[in-house]
Amino acid sequence: MILQSRSAFVIQAAALLALLSSAAAPGADWSEQDLAAAAALRDKAMTGTRAYEHVSSLVTEVGPRSAGSPGDAAAVRWAMNRLGSLGFSHVRTQDVLVPHWVRGTAEVAILAPFPQTLVATSIGGSVGTGEEGIEAQVVNAASLDALSALPAGNVKDKIVFIDERMQRARDGSGYAATVRNRSQGPSVAANLGALALVIRSVGTSDDRIAHTGGLNYRPDAPRIPAFAISNPDADVLARQLQAGKPVRMRLKSTARELPPAWSANVIGEIPGRERPAEIVLLAAHLDSWDLGYGAIDDGAGVAIVTEAARLIGKLDRAPARTIRVVLFANEEFGTSGGREYARLATDTLANHVLALEADFGAGPVWRLESRVGSESVPSLSAMLGVLAPIDIAEGANTADPGSDIRPLMNAGVPILDLTLDGAKYFDVHHTVNDTLAKVDAKALDQSVAAFAVAAYLAATKQGDFGRVPVEPAK
Ligand code: ZN
Ligand code: ZN
Repeated sequence: MILQSRSAFVIQAAALLALLSSAAAPGADWSEQDLAAAAALRDKAMTGTRAYEHVSSLVTEVGPRSAGSPGDAAAVRWAMNRLGSLGFSHVRTQDVLVPHWVRGTAEVAILAPFPQTLVATSIGGSVGTGEEGIEAQVVNAASLDALSALPAGNVKDKIVFIDERMQRARDGSGYAATVRNRSQGPSVAANLGALALVIRSVGTSDDRIAHTGGLNYRPDAPRIPAFAISNPDADVLARQLQAGKPVRMRLKSTARELPPAWSANVIGEIPGRERPAEIVLLAAHLDSWDLGYGAIDDGAGVAIVTEAARLIGKLDRAPARTIRVVLFANEEFGTSGGREYARLATDTLANHVLALEADFGAGPVWRLESRVGSESVPSLSAMLGVLAPIDIAEGANTADPGSDIRPLMNAGVPILDLTLDGAKYFDVHHTVNDTLAKVDAKALDQSVAAFAVAAYLAATKQGDFGRVPVEPAK
């Protein structure tokens, strides 16, 4: 019958079209089928994911998890259980030795000219003051460079106050400009003879909360105690200094370092269908500072990469390459996990096709930056085509990696940076306010969509992303 033969023709034509479109055009990076699958992943994630459930579980069942603490060990157990129960393959740990610093209590007070008790916290890794505390006159500096330029005679036996305000920016550039005060300030002040360092918090909050974060003592400098005070408290101290009378402060901290402890990177995989030895690595860090719950830093990142990989694992047709999720140990105080992973991966670095990290809050993603072989940059336009409908714009091929994957990039592994919106990130970063209340489930889902698209396309790409120039280890 005419009707029958007509429908048979339609079916044959449709099958032929499907066959044609599933095959990649010569030289194309992705087949139409792969691009359609990526778009479907995106759309599915945008309607809702389980990412919020993951970060809620981590915050509720583990909470704060600084390196070497009981919370750190609990987080490793949580991650093993989580990845296992979500259906990841080859779930395993990689032992990492981590420093174990304990915050204790911090007291910072102005004694004169106008006595005030300030909201303060020890900077991560700081030595304590001893029972007697430290009492001295304050000398202030507008920046680390200004401090370095002071004559030692002005600084000797004083408490140094670095008063530099971090600027708010979506790309977090204000952090890069001021974080040196925290990381390098203690040793710069100590080499000028200071007794202790107090900094204006490296953070953008207007609230009376102090932002912690790690310091880096230089081997050639005496180790002096270091504190961060909240922005409003730094304003008070600055106004008292401006009044021109000598300002005296008293500091006390019971911070101390315990012997190193064992932690672990936690790894799980979605095995590749055709080239399982080739790896697309999705990173986040499992540890957090101790003041808050680590929901934003980096519970959100853990949730984003875990959920992106889980969604890819649910597809009928697995991508060609393996998606490997690595939840790194101790990013916060020395990137122990990232360095150990890269050391152990020396022989398989060539198999690491691409790495991405989520360590800048709970989204949304607004830009795709890259650091790939220059010959691979044009291929990113097809990926951007899938990301553009969820408001992700093109960025440069000069991306900075998350700190856990920096050792991989420095060894030649290409990276993508799906830039998370950091405009509000530094209001809560490393503070008591890093709680689940700051995580927006919709923004988190959009971030999952972006990471799922990028990871899926990286794992199905015909060629690779080249290599990036190898940098000497720092
Ligand atoms: Zn982080
Ligand atoms: Zn952090």
